[in-house]
Amino acid sequence: MQLPDMKEARHRTKTEVLVKNDYVLTEEEKVLGVGKTYFVKTYGCQMNEHDSENIRAILEQMGYKPSTDIEDADLVILNTCAIRENAHNKVFGLLGRIKHARQSKNVMVGFCGCMAQEEVVVDAIMHKYKWIDFVFGTHNIQSLPSILEKATKTNTQQIEVLSCEGEIQENIPVKRDNKYKAWVNIMYGCDKFCTYCIVPYTRGKQRSRLPKDIVCEVESLVKDGYKEVTLLGQNVNAYGKDLNIDYTMANLLEDVAKTGIERVRFVTSHPWDFNDEMIDIIAKYDNIMPYIHLPLQSGSSKILKLMGRRYTKEQYLELVNNLKTKIPNCSLTTDIIVGFPGETQEDFEETLEVVNVCKYDSAFTFIFSPREGTPAAKMEDNISLEEKENRLYELNELINKYSKENNDKYLNKIVPVLLEDYSSKNSSLKGYTDTMKLVNVKADSSYLGKIVNVKITSVKTWSMDGEIVELQ
Ligand code: SF4
Repeated sequence: MQLPDMKEARHRTKTEVLVKNDYVLTEEEKVLGVGKTYFVKTYGCQMNEHDSENIRAILEQMGYKPSTDIEDADLVILNTCAIRENAHNKVFGLLGRIKHARQSKNVMVGFCGCMAQEEVVVDAIMHKYKWIDFVFGTHNIQSLPSILEKATKTNTQQIEVLSCEGEIQENIPVKRDNKYKAWVNIMYGCDKFCTYCIVPYTRGKQRSRLPKDIVCEVESLVKDGYKEVTLLGQNVNAYGKDLNIDYTMANLLEDVAKTGIERVRFVTSHPWDFNDEMIDIIAKYDNIMPYIHLPLQSGSSKILKLMGRRYTKEQYLELVNNLKTKIPNCSLTTDIIVGFPGETQEDFEETLEVVNVCKYDSAFTFIFSPREGTPAAKMEDNISLEEKENRLYELNELINKYSKENNDKYLNKIVPVLLEDYSSKNSSLKGYTDTMKLVNVKADSSYLGKIVNVKITSVKTWSMDGEIVELQ
């Protein structure tokens, strides 16, 4: 039994990160899932989406087959998110339904992801959710086969969660959700310790993969016909800082662009590490998409300081101005928190002011949610829920206004769209422009996976419709 330890998880040393290639299945593990089905439910960010692609591949190597319906599966794994309270509530809500379903069908239940790294959650699982068969964390996905085997053989609850700085496991299999675009991890963890954020505790210290391993992965994706990669990390701009080699995110972007992949994207950026070198490389390569997700969090330098974000409002605006000057057609999205402890009406108005200057294409907006174990959770929360909701409403109104205004500029324009999947609209496919705008296009399946020129015929706040004008 290995339980999470938030104190241990906060620990950071200069120890070199171990890169491992020793993932392998035993003969017994290879047949454990034969004749059984699995369902993986994923919550949260792209990092979790990609972890679930690894989990599915591992289960299929063990003989399990995918079930399209959670009710029918013999094995259900919840890959959880700990970023906000409502993520917690959704997970416990589903656990309630699964508990009910287990009364009529023998289902094995596994629990992983960032909530598994939280002491309070694992404590609840040990005392209230004893029927959950196994728990593993974000650092040991490669241990799923042995944990699953132990839980199956012993029929006792298995908990193996490592609260450590973390390693890099290179040879974990992956079953990608999409055939045309792929997530590529470039780094794990984060050392920024923004005062409201649980990620440095749940994902460990910042650890960059070796450039050769990333470029090699992208090259094999190109060979497999992939059109787009998204380079993933909690704070991609800091890529390479822990590698003790003179190699930065700008170098990596250039080397990935040179693989010939048609589209390169990257998330998530941190304004503090976003330098001119990176902007110049984005501007230089046509296959690096003109789309930047640049979390602001707050427009008040006072609140940014309390958040531990290490930049001021002025520095953020200067960076945005630089980006828009060097990459004129760049689309910009962000994350904003309202109601952070100590946020006055004036502070909130500074956030609105930054939104009016940046005119974002869209934004993820949230009411502050204290995460146990983070410094902000101990700060005095002196804003009423009603006031927080009013601020969120006012902010969303402004964000929607600029999203629609920005989309209006696309009407009758011809833009490149990667048609990646079927749309919910009849006889349409959906895809994204280079600037990350969602477009529904009347087209048959023969266009799937193709980057086509689309004339935009109508626009809404969050999506557009268009028709193919020519093939690239
Ligand atoms: S940079 Fe992002 S992931 Fe890292 S602590 Fe701050 S908010 Fe969390």
